Amino acid sequence: MNFLEERIVKDGVVKEGNVLKVDSFLNHQMDIKLLDQMGAEFKRRFADKPINKILTIEASGIGIACVAAQHFNVPVVFAKKSQSINLDGDMYVAEVESFTHKCINHVIVAQKFLNPEDHVLIIDDFLANGCALQGLIQIVQSSGATVEGIGIAIEKGFQSGGRIIRNLGFQLESLAIVDGMNAETGEIQFRDQSKTELNGTEKAEDEICRSATLD
Ligand code: 5GP
Repeated sequence: MNFLEERIVKDGVVKEGNVLKVDSFLNHQMDIKLLDQMGAEFKRRFADKPINKILTIEASGIGIACVAAQHFNVPVVFAKKSQSINLDGDMYVAEVESFTHKCINHVIVAQKFLNPEDHVLIIDDFLANGCALQGLIQIVQSSGATVEGIGIAIEKGFQSGGRIIRNLGFQLESLAIVDGMNAETGEIQFRDQSKTELNGTEKAEDEICRSATLD
C-alpha cells in the first residue's frame, strides 16, 4: 500500500451508496503534510510534462491543487460552480450533471485565465463517473490550451470515469484506486496499480456520466 492508501484505510469511512468519506484528512479537514506528499508524487509522475498551470474545481480540489502547485511552481486556476450564470462572453462554461442534486451545474472559468499557450495539469480529489473531469477537459479544450495530464487523489475504479478518461487518451494518474468497498465491514479494496492497464477497463461499470457533488 502507498501512503495515501494507508491513510484511507486508517481514517477513511465507507458509507452506504458507495461513498467514501475522507473528510478528516482530505476534503474538509486537510492534512497538509499528506497533501504535500501527494503534490510531490504528482510532480514525479508528470515530471516530463511542460506544465505551466494547474486547473481544479471548487471546492475540494482547491487545497490539493494549491499544495501540488508548489511542487510545479505554477499558478492554480479553479473552476467555479454555479446554478445561474451570467454569460458575458468572457467565460468558458461547461455543463456538469449533479448526481445528488439531480440538476445541471455550470462549471465556469474566466477566459483570461486560460489561453492556447497553456499546458494544463487538471487535479481533483475524487474521480467517480468522470463528469466533473469531462467538464474541466472541455473547458481547457475550448480555450485552445493543452491537457498535459490529470492527477486524482482517489479514483473509484468500479465507476466508469477512469476508463472513459483513459480511453480518451489522457494520462490519468490516480494516487489510490478503490476497486471495491463494503459499508458493513468498512473493508476497502485497492487496485494493484502495477496491473492498472490490465484490469482498469474491465471492472468499471457503464454508467451515465453524472457528477456526484458531495463537497
Ligand atoms: P464524478 O464527476 O467523477 O462522477 O464525481 C466527482 C466528484 O464527486 C468529486 O469531485 C467529489 O466531490 C464527488 N465524489 C464522488 N464520489 C465520492 C465519494 O465516494 N466520496 C466523496 N467524498 N466525494 C465523492
